[in-house]
Parts: sequence; structure tokens; C-alpha cells
Amino acid sequence: MNRKLVTSAADLKDGLVPPSYDRYRTQSSKKKKCPLKIFSGQKCGRALALWENVPISLLLLFEQEKAIRICGISDTETYIYFAHVHTGRNYKLGIYTGRGGDILDCIIKPALIIFLGNKLCSIILFTNRKERWRPPCVQKTSSCLVVPMATGMSLVLCLLTVRSQRPSSKFVIWSRIDQKSCFKSISTAGFKAIVVENLLEGDELRTDVPAIEKQISNLDPENIAAVMTTTSCFAPRGIDRLEEVATLCAKYDVPHIINNAYGVQDSKCMHHIQQAARVGRVDAFVQSTDKNFMVPVGGSVIAGFDAKFIELVGKTYPGRASGSPLLDLFITLLSMGTNGYKKLVKERKEMKTMLVEKMEELAKNYDLKVLSTKNNPISTAMTVPVVDGSSLTELGSMLFLRGVSGTRVIATDEEKTIAGHKFIGWGSHSSNYSHPYLTAAASIGMTSNDVDLFIQRLEKCLNKFVVKQHKNSNSTITSSLEVNDLLEAIQDKENVA
Ligand SMILES: *Cc1c(COP(=O)(O)O)cnc(C)c1O
Repeated sequence: MNRKLVTSAADLKDGLVPPSYDRYRTQSSKKKKCPLKIFSGQKCGRALALWENVPISLLLLFEQEKAIRICGISDTETYIYFAHVHTGRNYKLGIYTGRGGDILDCIIKPALIIFLGNKLCSIILFTNRKERWRPPCVQKTSSCLVVPMATGMSLVLCLLTVRSQRPSSKFVIWSRIDQKSCFKSISTAGFKAIVVENLLEGDELRTDVPAIEKQISNLDPENIAAVMTTTSCFAPRGIDRLEEVATLCAKYDVPHIINNAYGVQDSKCMHHIQQAARVGRVDAFVQSTDKNFMVPVGGSVIAGFDAKFIELVGKTYPGRASGSPLLDLFITLLSMGTNGYKKLVKERKEMKTMLVEKMEELAKNYDLKVLSTKNNPISTAMTVPVVDGSSLTELGSMLFLRGVSGTRVIATDEEKTIAGHKFIGWGSHSSNYSHPYLTAAASIGMTSNDVDLFIQRLEKCLNKFVVKQHKNSNSTITSSLEVNDLLEAIQDKENVA
């Protein structure tokens, strides 16, 4: 190991460690060459790369040792009852983030992990231009905040922060995306959603920018809390036209919040966010930790180009929060390293290409078509045989029974009321999409085995489905899922295991 050791607090140049923690650290472990010291002296951008494969257990052990030294007598000391919860699940850290009602304040015990978790995330998201490696980053972003809430709740937090700055605002203009949590975030934050339908361009659904502008001027910009756009979504919807919306937001002085739920894993999504901020207004963009960084559900990253706004978002959050999502993220990012992440991002892109190619092959055999959606880098859609809606549900169930999760069969004629708004064609991002389809996505961590298995099972289901439809049309028996289906599905699963 030829890593440079840091020997004094004076070597800490780049703010990797909060000053309070650093004082504490240098006082309590003067003689120890702890692994944290190696980390703390490196330039922010390189640190993560250097830390690839450093035993994380060492780091956690070190934190535990710290914890033992502390004599805690406040109400927030975490005395943990059950041993496995204490040592197994939490590394002897009753880890949480925040103090005295403020999530941004560092507490001593797990301070470094929380703090570095945040920093590492910023490195991935918005690294310095000079660094050699290039994860899919947004440059010149000034701030990010990792919070232990999923994306929908983080969007709520952003909207509530906007409210404090625009007290008379009532509306959020929302470019339609058929995903419940982002739509619900608007009503949960106490705003009325103004739904702007998408425009059909070829097979693809895109942002209706003139309609957004019309709504802004009709409703009066002052009454509008924000415009909410989305990058990552199910095909056949494409990435929103972020640059054009950002330009409108700058023109009318209206905040712009971007739902980037699973967009970090794709450079196109990140690139458009960066461009949008360059030509117009972007107040915050929010992404999920589980969807982008291969950790369990529970966290998201709220990022933006104005550090003050992001700080305000942090201040809006009432109280402390669980540090577990951050700990997961911290451990994961350290073990991945930037190179590891870059590799995963590259592989994902290849998987997307492979997925589309194989679906195209399959589609040909069944006289179906993969929809042309070039502005969606993650998800893809393929038409399904045209039958009545209830039969389509059956195709969905077939796939589900065969352990294919994440694919959706969209009938395009479903009606659904969510938070008081009636959506026609729910699931298809449009009230009049012309034909039913199914979707599949290539997300980070996916392997070619996953793609092969999906194609194999999809083929089986399509085969069965087509035969069955044919049979049904020739007889009066309209059976639903048969026991045979179930047995076969179980067998399939066993073969895999
Ligand atoms: C996952 C996701 C969200 C957020 O859902 P949470 O469960 O709150 O994380 C929002 N929009 C889209 C498009 C998503 O995929």
C-alpha cells in the first residue's frame, strides 16, 4: 500500500472531515494510525478510487472503538436491547444522522460515516472536471444531501422547501409520468397538480413544452410552486425535454424540480440535467439510492446547483433520521470504488443494447414490434398481441408467475383516480396511446443471464398466450389461469434454483 498517511489535522485541506469530528479524532487517537487517516488526506475526487477494496471492516471496527470511548448520558444515546440488532445489523453503532432537530448536524459517534457517505455520493454525482475517471456526473453541482427517505418523500421535502419561499403558490405543473409516488408527492406537499399530457412523436411520448408554458402564463407564475419533470421512466415515454422546460422556468422565474429516480446510472439522463442547469433553471434533482447504487431501499440523494437551497431542504426536515441507508451506501461506494461504478454503468448500457436486440428478435417471430423510443436509455417497450383487456391481464399474470418481475403489461385503456385526479390510460403516460405493449428495463447490476432468462420466459408466455387466444376464439370455454400454468411456473423456478 503506497497510500499517503495523514499525520496531522493540518493535512486536512479539502473539508472531507467535519471540523468537530476532526478535533475529536485527533484528541482521542493521537497515537493510532487508523485507516480513516488515509482517507481523510486524499483529494476528494481521488479518494474513492484509492479506497477500492480497502477492508471496510477495518473502518467499521475503528468506528466501534470510538463508540466505546464515549460516555453517553443523554436521551439520544442508543442503548440497544437485542444483541444481533446491536452488533450484527448495526456494527455496534446506533447510527443516525442529525442532532437537535436538524438532519444536517453531525453527531459524534457515526459522524464520519454519515459525513463521508454524503461526500462520496457527491463525488459520484458531481465530480471535479479535472479527475481522470468520469462517472456519469453532473459537473458544477454545488451540493447534495443524502436523506434516509425514498424518492417520493424527498420530492415532498423539496416542494415543502419551495413553499417556504413562495408562500402564495398553489400549483405544481407536472409533465405526466404514470408513476404514483412522484404524482402523490405533489398532493402530499399540499399542492394541486396541473397535469400536462405528453405529445406523441412516432412511437414515443415527449414533453408538451408549449402546453407547459401556456399553463404557467394562464395560472400566473406567482401561483406556481414548481414545474416537475422526470428523466428516468418506463418506455414509450422519453426523458422530459429538460433544457426547454428549464429555459421556461428561468423566463418565468418558476422553480424546476427534476425527478431523476433511476437516472444516475445513465449518462444521458445526467447530461440533460447538466445542460438544463446551464441554459435555464434547475432547483433540485432527486435520485434514489437503491435504484442507482445497488443498496437496499431507504435513501435518496437530493442534489442541486445552489448550495443554499439544498441546505434549506435539509433544514426543512424535522429531526433526526436513521443512518442505516447512509451506512449501506457508504460501505457499498467504498467497495465499488469509482472504477467499479463506472464499469457497472458501462455494463448496464451494454445490457440495454442486448435486451433490445433480443426483444427485437423475439418480436419478429410473433409479428410484434419493439417500439422506437430513442430518448429512453433505460426502459424499452414491445407491442403485445391485440386482444381484449382482461386477457392482457392474464399475460401479465403469466409473466409474474414465472418469476418475471419488473415487466409491465399495459392495456392502455385503464382508468384510475389518484389523489383526486382521474387518469385515462393509466400506466401508459397518455390518455390515448394506440396499442397495448409490455415494458422491460435494463438497470444497474443486470447481467446477460438475467436478459437471457427474461427472453426465455417471455417467449414461453407469449407462445402460451397466443395459442390460448387462438383456442378461446374457437371455443366457448374462457378459462383463466390454469393449474398447469402454476405447476409449470414452479418447475421453471426450481430449474433456475
Ligand atoms: C421509483 C420512482 C419514484 C420514487 O418512488 P419511491 O418509492 O418514492 O422511491 C418516482 N418516480 C419514478 C419514475 C420512479 O421510478
